[in-house]
Amino acid sequence: MGPCAYCGAFDKLTVDHIVPRCKGGTYNKTNVALVCAQCNNDKADLDLDSWIQVLLGAKDARAPIVLEYAKKRQVFLQMRVTIKTSPFDVHTFPTSHLICLGSTVKPDDLIRV
Ligand SMILES: [Zn+2]
Repeated sequence: MGPCAYCGAFDKLTVDHIVPRCKGGTYNKTNVALVCAQCNNDKADLDLDSWIQVLLGAKDARAPIVLEYAKKRQVFLQMRVTIKTSPFDVHTFPTSHLICLGSTVKPDDLIRV
């Protein structure tokens, strides 16, 4: 149980590959999100941007939330690039930044996936 990274629903969570595995997405922790079954099923093998377009087209209530998630993820990835080139390990990365992505998962939880 937890908040879905995409829609924030408290539900049983599944692992979504943000870039689908069939499109070269990896198990790297930057490419997995814990999401509810409905979002995972709906997104299917779409990448995040394509799914947002589908949600917007369908006037799905999740569209603005997922869009916000995608923006935060971009910021997160850019910050990670900065961290990679700094002396700090990802484990020193404040978990509050992961929480702001809509997930309360700690980096170690994702590594185990
Ligand atoms: Zn969801």
